Amino acid sequence: MKKSLLGNIMAIAAVLVIGSVTHAATLVTDVTLVDVETGELVNGQSLLIRDGQIAEIATQIDAEGVDVLDGAGGYLIPGLWDSHVHIFSTPTEPDTALPLYLINGVTGIRDMGGLWPFEEQRALQSRIEAGEIIGPRLILSGAWVDASPGSWPGMFLADTPDDAQAIVDQISSEGWAAVKSYSMLNERTYLALAEAAAAKGLPLVGHIPERVALGTAIMAGQDGMEHFGRIPMACSTEEAGMLDALRYAMSEGADVSRVFSIMAERNGIILRTWDSALCSDILGQMTDARLHVSPTLVVADFYLGNWPAPDAERMRMLPSSVLEAWGKPDFRLEAMTDELRALAEDSVALDRHVFGMAHAAGVPILASSDASFANPYLFHGFSLLDELEIYVSAGLTPREALFTATVAPPRFFELDDQDGRITPGRRADLVLLDANPLDGLATLRSPRAVIVGGKVLDRAMLEDMRRRLLLAD
Ligand SMILES: [Zn+2]
Repeated sequence: MKKSLLGNIMAIAAVLVIGSVTHAATLVTDVTLVDVETGELVNGQSLLIRDGQIAEIATQIDAEGVDVLDGAGGYLIPGLWDSHVHIFSTPTEPDTALPLYLINGVTGIRDMGGLWPFEEQRALQSRIEAGEIIGPRLILSGAWVDASPGSWPGMFLADTPDDAQAIVDQISSEGWAAVKSYSMLNERTYLALAEAAAAKGLPLVGHIPERVALGTAIMAGQDGMEHFGRIPMACSTEEAGMLDALRYAMSEGADVSRVFSIMAERNGIILRTWDSALCSDILGQMTDARLHVSPTLVVADFYLGNWPAPDAERMRMLPSSVLEAWGKPDFRLEAMTDELRALAEDSVALDRHVFGMAHAAGVPILASSDASFANPYLFHGFSLLDELEIYVSAGLTPREALFTATVAPPRFFELDDQDGRITPGRRADLVLLDANPLDGLATLRSPRAVIVGGKVLDRAMLEDMRRRLLLAD
């Protein structure tokens, strides 16, 4: 097992706290501001950062007794968000995950479910907010609700509308940021969950349950949809038939192998019966409903076997226990039939094509990776940058891809101090880059500095974090 890296993070935090005793503020000088919403570039700007916020922006700021970060030749963007991660799947996962996010310029993450008790998740969130631990801003949306016995340990379980009502009451009183629906919920319970969440003013995010049509979820007021696969399925003339087959199999007493084989047949059916006009119709409905999608397209790399070499840096930054677990046979790969394997590349190509259509149709997108120690070959930090590159290869401009990671998330989360604009009064979560990211996203891989909650991590500090991760195990 890994020794506590938290100690290291705390040490870095201590250095920063000592630094802030003499300098309560930082002046970033002579930088080009990137407006990710409009594509506008404004060069020669200085920013004064104080108390975790952007205090002032001007061509010239005279400030004494502040730290200075030379931004000459650099481009400043809002910090990145990964809107679908799991950092609580082992007792020590945050020790590795938090610095990995920061060195990749990710200053905000939304956790979508894990094994830690909620009180402990919230304690970590508070320590990050208080500056005791250096990490990205953390949103806790992992109150996942599934049918019994639950797809993962520790889930809320609801099999009836009454269960759903009681669970939403509990989720609301505990203080989670959202209710997360999961795959095995039956339709009546799911609809009750949606109604109860709306009554409590909580967003309903998560999986569209396997027996619920996408159109039904839109009508029910689902606010956020995790993963992309249900959209190509809803573009198939056979969506209703596929849902019925599964409902029938599950009503018969949920023979798991029958359920899996029905789900395994879906990709082939979707490839044969996919319909462009039907697709445009459902995408239009999603756009009108402002149903936000967290695509997690990078997950396909796992199924396609696009795994990094064992000596790749991102592999060496993980605890050996994690690499060991990833090296074992995985139930998700074992469940793949030969047919599914043969179709995998075509299915991934269709997903990416429909993703391009979704973006063109105006469906709101939240860049998301599904990174977790529990998800083999998905990496905290790195996989979000991979995901953004997939968006560009699917036809988005670099600016449009960046929008899904900088502007869309804080607005969807309704944060009052962050909206993807670099302007006074906003929280100072920023990334300083060597090149213009609107010309290409490669520059995101080596930020010159990352500013999180007003704390500046310059290149030397980022290097130090990287080195500690490489040495940690
Ligand atoms: Zn997930």
